[in-house]
Amino acid sequence: MKKITIAIDGYSSTGKSTIAKQLAKHLSYVYVDSGAMYRAVALFALQNRLYVNQVLDIPNLLVALPNIKLHFKFNSKTSLSEIYLNNKPIEKQIRTMEISNLVSQVARIPQVRKQLVELQKNMGANKGIVMDGRDIGTVVFPDAELKLFLTASATTRAKRRYKELATQDPNISLDAVFDNITSRDEMDTSRKDSPLIRAKDAIEIDNSFLSKEAQFELILSYISRLISD
Ligand code: C5P
Repeated sequence: MKKITIAIDGYSSTGKSTIAKQLAKHLSYVYVDSGAMYRAVALFALQNRLYVNQVLDIPNLLVALPNIKLHFKFNSKTSLSEIYLNNKPIEKQIRTMEISNLVSQVARIPQVRKQLVELQKNMGANKGIVMDGRDIGTVVFPDAELKLFLTASATTRAKRRYKELATQDPNISLDAVFDNITSRDEMDTSRKDSPLIRAKDAIEIDNSFLSKEAQFELILSYISRLISD
């Protein structure tokens, strides 16, 4: 069977990583969560006190950038690839609301994007990869055989994300989640370098009223046409 590259982009909390993981498992492909890499840089900045009153100290982050080493390691117990920052596992620490509120500031810095995009391109060099993010179909893998662009209404997305987060943090509010999602969308679509935009050749899927199963079947039908060519 022919191996292809699958690029999944879309707004925050549209279920990109859930479907990407499902597809990678089904196809025995590598899955890469590119958002985890931006979150890891935000965590590094936080740990090194590079956010002053929630505002990123860009010059000092740029100085430290060569010291940020990221890699993914497959965890056979969870069957998931987990991210490491300078050889320390950080998968849990990057999923907090604090990091969600800070991450888009690092994601708009061209030097950060350049460093991470290079790593992402290398990970996809042999195809057989599913990567999700904001610029995968436009910048990272412009030649991907399958590009998907996921959308859903902001209210639907906030409710879904709230459900997930509330199990870990009972103090979280739906309003705070809604605000985080909409402000990240705004920053991600308006930044100069690699803004979140649908690639011309991407298939747009609005999953507001689509079940996970129906979405999976729909995407598999696109894939089977591509790999049997
Ligand atoms: O996908 P996730 O929501 O974890 O991504 C966190 C943030 O990382 C996004 O809001 C965006 O600012 C940034 N990001 C990006 N480009 C990507 C993936 C994520 O700018 N390819």
